[in-house]
Amino acid sequence: MEDKIEQLKAQAAEAIKNAAGNLSELDDIRVKFLGKKGEFTTILRGMGALAKEDRPKVGKIVNEAKAEIAALIQQKNEELKAREMQARLEREKIDVTLPGRQQPLGHLHPLTLTLERIKDIFFRMGFSVEEGPEIEKDYYNFEALNLPKDHPARDMQDSFYITEDILMRSQTSPVQARTMQKNEPNAPIRMIAPGRVYRRDEYDATHSPMFTQVEGLVIDEGITFADLKGTLELFLRQIFSEDVKVRLRPSFFPFTEPSTEVDISCVMCHGKGCKVCKGTGWLEILGAGMVHPHVLEMSGYDPKKVSGFAFGMGVERIAMLSYGVDDLRLFYDNDMRFLRQF
Ligand SMILES: [Zn+2]
Repeated sequence: MEDKIEQLKAQAAEAIKNAAGNLSELDDIRVKFLGKKGEFTTILRGMGALAKEDRPKVGKIVNEAKAEIAALIQQKNEELKAREMQARLEREKIDVTLPGRQQPLGHLHPLTLTLERIKDIFFRMGFSVEEGPEIEKDYYNFEALNLPKDHPARDMQDSFYITEDILMRSQTSPVQARTMQKNEPNAPIRMIAPGRVYRRDEYDATHSPMFTQVEGLVIDEGITFADLKGTLELFLRQIFSEDVKVRLRPSFFPFTEPSTEVDISCVMCHGKGCKVCKGTGWLEILGAGMVHPHVLEMSGYDPKKVSGFAFGMGVERIAMLSYGVDDLRLFYDNDMRFLRQF
């Protein structure tokens, strides 16, 4: 019996010594020798067969052997843990002297940057931003803006119709009617409506079937043409430069009366005449006018009590002039060589 215990002890020690792999291997050894169904437990269970006087002696030897093996396992356990930790430290070593990996940083599109500048100037004048759908009812796109179905001015804008009554909006002006109708009658308005608009147009250096517009509307008691002029002059001087000259020319829009084209002195040649201004020294930059009384009435405003002005401009045009870009298509082609310059 004692020999057998000695033999088992030696086996266990050998197995522990060789358990080089991992902690679970070591645990298997522990179960094999010390577990509930392990070798030593079997010996203890079999003690009934021994002579009564031998039992304490054998029991003592078994327990000593178990304690020795447990100590060996414990020791090996710590050894393996330390080795694993060391391996992990080696594996996860960080070389702090390596140069960092640079993440390429993107930035806003030049049209978005221009729109942000436009918004910023109007924000400082107390304007709010209103938005509306790009797929619009004919009523809002035309009728509510004093353009009934048979109106000849509808030919000015060839539009993309989806059904008889629904189209891709050809201007951001429908947001004006929507805002007026949403408001209490005669409530003051000071808003801009930026967004994409769609027209059946060529795709060339100066035209695109989709472009970005900013529409503006101010309504209150006692708003005059002087407010229109002052607001737009202030805006144009801030977006271009302080020394830009502003010129108003009579024009026609169905939704404003009187209406005006707003020109600025050419930002390229400062009025001397160049290719961009076609030798005139002036650049057409936006359209504006006093809101037509019919337009006010149709959206529940009383033209005897309030008056207002409206204006509209193309964001691409302003971006082209302020960045000196001579082809509109560059904004849509997504050529990184172009976009990286902003
Ligand atoms: Zn010029």
